[in-house]
Amino acid sequence: MPVRIAIGLAVTVVCVAVAGRRFHWISKLVRTGRTAPGRTRTDLAARAEAEVTEVAGQRKLLKWKVPGLAHFFTMWGFTILLFTIVEAYGDLFDPTFHIPGIGTSPVLGFIEDFFATAVLVALGVFTAIRIKNAPSRRERASRFYGSHTDAAWITLLLIFGVVSTLLLYRGAQIGTRPRQFPYGNWAFASHVIGAGLAGLGPRVDGVLATTFLLLNIAIISGFLVFVSYSKHLHIFMAPLNVAFSRRPRALGALDKTPDMDMENVTEDTVFGAGLIEHFTWKQMLDFVTCTECGRCQSVCPAWNTGKPLSPKLMIMNLRDNMFAQAPRLLAAASVDGEATSVSTSPEPQTLVPFTIEPDVLWSCTTCGSCVEQCPVDIEHVDAIVDMRRYQVLMESSFPSEAGLMLRNIENQGDPWGLGASKRTEWTNGLDFEVPVVADAIPDDVEYLYWVGCAGALDERARKQVQATARLLHRAGVSFAILGPKESCTGDPARRIGNEYLFQEQAKANITTLEGAGVKKIVATCPHCFNTLKNEYPALGGNFEVVHHAELLDYLVNAGKIVPGTGYRGTVTYHDPCYLGRHNRVFDEPRTVIGAIPGAKNVEMRRCRERGFCCGAGGARMWMEESIGTRVNMDRTLEALGTGADVVSTACPYCMIMLDDAVRANGKEDEVRVLDLSQLVEESMVVGATSDHRGPAVAAAERTSPVLED
Ligand code: SF4
Ligand code: SF4
Repeated sequence: MPVRIAIGLAVTVVCVAVAGRRFHWISKLVRTGRTAPGRTRTDLAARAEAEVTEVAGQRKLLKWKVPGLAHFFTMWGFTILLFTIVEAYGDLFDPTFHIPGIGTSPVLGFIEDFFATAVLVALGVFTAIRIKNAPSRRERASRFYGSHTDAAWITLLLIFGVVSTLLLYRGAQIGTRPRQFPYGNWAFASHVIGAGLAGLGPRVDGVLATTFLLLNIAIISGFLVFVSYSKHLHIFMAPLNVAFSRRPRALGALDKTPDMDMENVTEDTVFGAGLIEHFTWKQMLDFVTCTECGRCQSVCPAWNTGKPLSPKLMIMNLRDNMFAQAPRLLAAASVDGEATSVSTSPEPQTLVPFTIEPDVLWSCTTCGSCVEQCPVDIEHVDAIVDMRRYQVLMESSFPSEAGLMLRNIENQGDPWGLGASKRTEWTNGLDFEVPVVADAIPDDVEYLYWVGCAGALDERARKQVQATARLLHRAGVSFAILGPKESCTGDPARRIGNEYLFQEQAKANITTLEGAGVKKIVATCPHCFNTLKNEYPALGGNFEVVHHAELLDYLVNAGKIVPGTGYRGTVTYHDPCYLGRHNRVFDEPRTVIGAIPGAKNVEMRRCRERGFCCGAGGARMWMEESIGTRVNMDRTLEALGTGADVVSTACPYCMIMLDDAVRANGKEDEVRVLDLSQLVEESMVVGATSDHRGPAVAAAERTSPVLED
């Protein structure tokens, strides 16, 4: 056997064996996870679509233009360059080898050289990005802070090695036997190198061709090993992870994890995740898929305001814990009958506080920015809530101030503990009757108006629900309320990890709604909207649920609500996380603002999918925020920076948080925080002025606003 074949095969066999062993080990480890309900979906069309858009189309990455394009060409470059790998191994055995059918096509030569060049350009871009964002200079502001940057540089070097040796051996081939090189000038990059090497003569070029060919094979083989032991595992894991992700478009409901059926609790039941083995196999797949790119970290409101939570570092720490605990997990699972000795296994280590600090866990607002940005569809929020569930339900360990909120929901049906008797007080200022459902919703009433705890009980939020009620009444939309029978949907209990209380609340509400014959619900609070729409179905509550922003959009488009000229000014719209990212309602509120003749909409830099949280979600509304700066201040400063005189939103919690921060900045005389309904209503007030205080005072003083047709 010629020496070159022996060297090429030996390197390949060793590297493939090492990498294969590692992949087998990872596969066994991931399969030790708990079952992941709903993840082995049979919906092949949806899986195919996710693969086409997320993996092949790089949809998420392309939102970040320059790095997105660089990654797009690198990913496709590597796919196309698979042809060159086949050619390299063919060449090893027969220097005249070409892929049957297409191997001599000049088009193939052009495509290969085009992508090889594109990958080299992309490497330059990645290098510039890494230097510009070096954690050593930018510290927490760098998205690479905490990532394994050395491994990233080695990866760039290896990719450079693969592409450069490819072009060099092809260039040397041209110098050795130009007539046998099939692509002519179409392989433009190879030709440039070939021209440079031509002066060395065919003999030297022949040696170089063999040397660079073997180097190319060696670097590709070594890269395979390096990938299997580094964050670049994502090259192989990302398509799998995307295929099993259940939320390619919107976050919606929290995941259904094992043991969350409160009707079938046994003494072995473990709620949530306290040890690494309590995660599902899909969550373990998440952990090994992370590329450490830091896109999640750079958009996280907790991280951006100085909290210890970085979704990236959390995933990395969970992965490290999983690898450290692997001998024990594999021994316990005895996957494929290859049990490792238990005596050599590490002791189980509770995740909190050893791997995840409590402040990391409780800093999350469940805003979903991390999930939205993650290019490989990792689902951080489910992991966070699973760890919270364990802390709350198994350890009774959670921020003490949140305990009051949970007790209030349990005893009074609302987070403030104000009680059911106050739930109709908000209707007192209206000049029409709002029917309260006694036994059954009347046949001639279309919607059950789900007011929500904040809307019913908080002074500022009451203005929002009153404005919405007046607009619906004006538009001829019939609605009724549950009044004292309405109780908290359970959203804050679920987000903080008290799944038991959430299910109790949900079941009671479903019984009430079904008993009243409710079919259609309009909600003003995005948290209620999300829970009623996306989470109640899993417990048997199936209703048609709309948010008032969607209904207003419909009514404006149908001509049933006609915004007037009562408001003149500049508006910036803040996307509530649970309306926007979690439910993709981005356009409707903007259409409504756009229909107000005097309103000029200015967007904040972080808007729509990238909207920045107000800080209230994930039950953070009821927890102290003593670390770093306040999330609502960060967001409000951005809103104030637009110069708008109204910050509009469509969520009572966002309204409260933003209004607090406007006041804390001493800007309450210049800037108002208004719900979409209030803004529309104000525009319809006859005789309103463009002085921002005029219409506000006018609207507040009128019990029966005069509305334009
Ligand atoms: S959900 Fe929001 S706050 Fe929580 S980790 Fe993700 S980005 Fe950060
Ligand atoms: S979790 Fe996703 S976005 Fe965050 S670092 Fe990992 S791959 Fe990047």
